[in-house]
Amino acid sequence: MFQSFSPNMLKTFELCPKKFYFRYVKNISMPVNDEIFEFGKNIHALASYYLRKENIDRMETSLTPKEKDIWEYLKGINYFKYETVATEYNLSAKLGQYFFGGRLDALLKDGNKYYILDYKTGAIPKNAKYDFQTMIYLLAVQKFFNTDNVTFVYLDLKNRKESVIELTPALEKEYKERLGQITEKIEHEDYIKNKNVCPCEYKIICY
Ligand code: SF4
Repeated sequence: MFQSFSPNMLKTFELCPKKFYFRYVKNISMPVNDEIFEFGKNIHALASYYLRKENIDRMETSLTPKEKDIWEYLKGINYFKYETVATEYNLSAKLGQYFFGGRLDALLKDGNKYYILDYKTGAIPKNAKYDFQTMIYLLAVQKFFNTDNVTFVYLDLKNRKESVIELTPALEKEYKERLGQITEKIEHEDYIKNKNVCPCEYKIICY
């Protein structure tokens, strides 16, 4: 049924297969009130321009005090001294029979080591090592850039913390197995079953 998967698709399926059915099989979008997402958009844009060495003077003066505080922290992190490979970068790679991919906030390089940066104005995933975003981005960069030196860095901009996951041969094997298992489940899911993880934005059409 599907040829490609994003981290959000897999996360949604894991949360509730019925929600996945509405969103990705029937293509029904529901409005969500995501203030954190809106707040993060300016920071993401600013970081992207900055890493591409574009002039951000005017953007910086239009930041709110809260955004300015976060931006000053982000601008000072060590990773921003590395070489910029790409920002806001759409990347996908074929792993097994499917393509997996998404949009990376930034891909940087220090010597022969690649670093995927992900800025979080909300929370870092609780189990970052096995988050679908971590797994997919690490494997996609490894494959696309033909490298075994790739690390994922979540930056918690609010609490000024990092979560760092380096791809190892053991993790690569485990990630491929996990992606294989969930795509297998998606292909064979009975979407009528209610997993009862309610409520979500689809509840008005769900019951
Ligand atoms: S309302 Fe509940 S069962 Fe229905 S899609 Fe949302 S989480 Fe799933």
